[in-house]
Amino acid sequence: KRSVFWFRRDLRLEDNHGLCRALAKGSNVRPIFIFDTTILSKLPSTYDRRVDYIHQALQLLQQKLNVFGTDIRVYIGSPLDIFKDLNREGAIGSIFCNGDYEPDAIRRDQLIENWAAGEGIDFVSCKDQVIFEKSEVMKKDGTPYTVFTPYSRVWKSKLSPQALHPFEIEYGGFEKLDFKELPALDAIGFQKTDIQFVESEVEASAIKDYDKSRDFPGMDTTTRLGVALRFGTISIRRCVLLASENNETWLNELIWREFFMQILFHFPESAKLCFKPAYEAIAWRNNEGEFEAWCNGETGYPLVDAGMRELNETGFMHNRVRMVVASFLTKHLLIDWRWGEAYFAGKLLDYDASANVGNWQWAAGCGCDAAPYFRIFNPEEQLRKFDKDLIYVKRWNPDFESKAIHKIVEHAFARDRALSTYKIGLGK
Ligand code: FAD
Repeated sequence: KRSVFWFRRDLRLEDNHGLCRALAKGSNVRPIFIFDTTILSKLPSTYDRRVDYIHQALQLLQQKLNVFGTDIRVYIGSPLDIFKDLNREGAIGSIFCNGDYEPDAIRRDQLIENWAAGEGIDFVSCKDQVIFEKSEVMKKDGTPYTVFTPYSRVWKSKLSPQALHPFEIEYGGFEKLDFKELPALDAIGFQKTDIQFVESEVEASAIKDYDKSRDFPGMDTTTRLGVALRFGTISIRRCVLLASENNETWLNELIWREFFMQILFHFPESAKLCFKPAYEAIAWRNNEGEFEAWCNGETGYPLVDAGMRELNETGFMHNRVRMVVASFLTKHLLIDWRWGEAYFAGKLLDYDASANVGNWQWAAGCGCDAAPYFRIFNPEEQLRKFDKDLIYVKRWNPDFESKAIHKIVEHAFARDRALSTYKIGLGK
């Protein structure tokens, strides 16, 4: 019987745990990818850089697989139907994949696993996109950490060279497959975008000064590996190895990524509800016109507008600016964090439910280990501190001076309004 390796958030051959396990087990491994129509149908636009990114990453995978006399088979539909069809075409012995910890992905995998069990097929899910998954870093009393610092301390104490050891692939184990053209983007219902996929690498030199420069958006010194980590075109083990040898601040960012993943895993309801339930009582203003101005980068605050324009034009926004625009939406405009979260989810190339929800709730004050509700960023002060020469603002919002006269709301007024609204909601 043949095995199937199901690529999902791990679009690489190198150091891929599940693929390594599949190939080590025997011959006849068929690499597959499924464009899951349930996921695609929820995307807000047919111009989606992420779909294009995946498509280009698959083309590269295909070229590499062709060298080993095999290919990738790419399907469009619901994973369960695809697996049923594949099993009808020729019995499957095992399905290998790498774990995904988002609530929808867990449900999907459970469905496949249950069906597979009924057919006598092994379903093997490996740990690949994180160093520590699910309940591997827990408090002594067996409950999950909800505060970052103690979580990260234990995370670091558990880190061993073995955890970072790369998985070597035995390339002889693939099923022999002839080259077959991938389905075109328009066959999936999507358009070509401006994204240019490049295989991501990370070198020590790129993170050497991360701690000193990461807060200045004009310097453009963060790694931009978010999308590669999201779709697994780079190995987390490689990143953590480099981080632990070169820059502790960058290592902490990679730990934040896992911290939020385990929060969403243990508290799946926090995808939609405030982690701190008391914050559900905040009376959001939710003014639609103001939300639209924020989305379009027309608030009159140069840094906020530059950030939203960077997001709209590229699918990326610098972290410091993400914090400023999120604080502005939830505090200055008193718009529900879920509106901002959904807008980011539709646009961010590195969109990841756990990091997006976690960071939005952090900004709104309602998350685990969040910024206190009374911490309200002053967007002008942030501009003076982090982009004083206006390099970033001029890049994304060049006509900012003429628009600054029409500020959507005055800072001092908005600050007082936010404080009193939060206080009333929280009963303080
Ligand atoms: P670097 O600064 O080089 O960091 C390296 C990697 O560490 C990132 O690629 C990411 O995987 C991880 N990381 C860094 N900061 C964080 C963080 N605060 N939380 C979790 N992981 C982190 N990050 C996402 O990956 N997906 C999201 O959907 C997302 N939404 C966000 C929404 C808001 C409101 C805010 C304030 C932050 C959000 N972040 C998100 C976190 C952070 O802004 C991005 O990870 C970072 O800007 C990506 O740029 P980079 O790849 O150059 O990261």
